[in-house]
Amino acid sequence: MKRVTEKDAYEVIRSAGSKGLLQSDLWRSLNTNSREGSRIATKLEKKGLVRRTKELCDGRWTYRLYVDERTQVSDVLWCTLNHCPCFTCKNLSQCGVGHSVSPNNCIELDKWLIDQVAEKNGKETLDESEEKTN
Ligand code: SF4
Repeated sequence: MKRVTEKDAYEVIRSAGSKGLLQSDLWRSLNTNSREGSRIATKLEKKGLVRRTKELCDGRWTYRLYVDERTQVSDVLWCTLNHCPCFTCKNLSQCGVGHSVSPNNCIELDKWLIDQVAEKNGKETLDESEEKTN
């Protein structure tokens, strides 16, 4: 079974948009099992990054997951650019929207932004929680 990171799960949930997705669809998308999917969804909820609402599906209770609008990356205070990976990135000069290196698909930038949201909400950053599980 593939090791799933919180960032992987967050991206799947975020890509579902305002309709969200069922927790069972999350773990299927991540090619993992229900236990791991549930564990990660719960952690993201505790960090304030996603919202879970109970939903009856095919006669069974499950959860629908949404990226919480209150924690969208646009909420990040841009005055907190401290440690932004772009400032020390060796690819900065080639990076741009539409280029092969782009902020639209940069894992380092995504991770930093997610951590900014977590810190803003007074939650653990991804690094802190990954350290505890390792
Ligand atoms: S978005 Fe990513 S690749 Fe582009 S400069 Fe920032 S860290 Fe580097």
